[in-house]
Amino acid sequence: MCNGSEGEPGTFKDRALLRANPYQLVEGVIIAAFAIGADEAYICLKSGFTREIALVTSAVQDFQSAGICTDCTVNIVAGPDEYLFGEEKAMLEVIEGKPPLPRWFPPYVHGLFAAEPQEGWEAGPHGGVVRTTDEPNPTLVNNVETLSNVPHILARGADWFRSMGTDESPGTIVATVVGDVIAPDVGEVEMGTPLRAVIDAVGSGVRPGRCVKAVFSGVANPVVSAAQLDVPVSYEGFAGIDSGMGSAGFIVYDDTACMVDAAYRLSRFLAIESCGQCLPCKLGSGAITEHLERIETGAGSDADIEAIGQWLERVADGNRCYLAVEERDLVSSVLRAFPEEFVDHIEQQRCPQTDERPIPKLLDLVGGCATYDESYWRKRPDWTYDPE
Ligand code: SF4
Repeated sequence: MCNGSEGEPGTFKDRALLRANPYQLVEGVIIAAFAIGADEAYICLKSGFTREIALVTSAVQDFQSAGICTDCTVNIVAGPDEYLFGEEKAMLEVIEGKPPLPRWFPPYVHGLFAAEPQEGWEAGPHGGVVRTTDEPNPTLVNNVETLSNVPHILARGADWFRSMGTDESPGTIVATVVGDVIAPDVGEVEMGTPLRAVIDAVGSGVRPGRCVKAVFSGVANPVVSAAQLDVPVSYEGFAGIDSGMGSAGFIVYDDTACMVDAAYRLSRFLAIESCGQCLPCKLGSGAITEHLERIETGAGSDADIEAIGQWLERVADGNRCYLAVEERDLVSSVLRAFPEEFVDHIEQQRCPQTDERPIPKLLDLVGGCATYDESYWRKRPDWTYDPE
């Protein structure tokens, strides 16, 4: 299974790779299928990625007509726009024709078209789903970037790949830099490059006279403060500052940005996208978002901070997937890193900053120009949209 359902705010690397060279992905998928003896592979893309779907479909057809992948069927699955489609346990469900609601068990335990019902709640031996095997069918899942690396590593050797990057994070990473930068873009950098240099090299840096206040690596990790900008872009580098590199999609906020507003909008994204299978996640992320909105709009008090703290302790209870942890870690990190901004909002009963930043849910990123999904603000917690 190839995860190409890119939905992390501030990330465009998979679509950039697919646009640049869909053949390297298809080749990587075929090699991976060959390596594990799979005769069936699935490349999952959002149905809105029409350009990328056309490119990958054409590449698969070219491979097949060249007789290169006759012993493996490569299927392309066009799925929903929801964030959770990119969660691998939810992606299994989508391939099986169901909504993107994460299962309990990971794909390597309970894979595609496996026979046993998840937890016994699906009546009958096959739960009404067409199953092709009575085995657990452990399923290999990698994303577009990982699989696109495979043909090059096989062709040039592991030593070549390891000659770049760090010991623990070898090779390169395709980084996205958006937000308060001169020219948002996608670029491949060597692992271990300082974040500050990545922002300058890929996003052309912040605007003249401005400085970086904070960086979020998508919505999945604690905020990176200005004092941490020299962190190496690597797995161990970000772990060393108690954050995470995520998919190397960096959302930059300069010194004119409001961190309460940022926390509110990113929390709202997670609250909307939470599927509701775990009540602490859906109720907690929704409640945290409401309290953040009260503080941001000047209606907040210390009671809101207290309520946020209480929900942060519970929001990830019994979570099936990582989204609830993202909510907990992201919001608590902003509270820790920028406490004075929350105090200012409550004392002044207003937001000291006037500029608002949209959620960087990227529809396109071309030539230094990022297009965000403006309709997203109308999305409701039940995944329907307010009419315009
Ligand atoms: S943790 Fe949240 S998003 Fe994940 S399955 Fe549970 S309710 Fe859904």
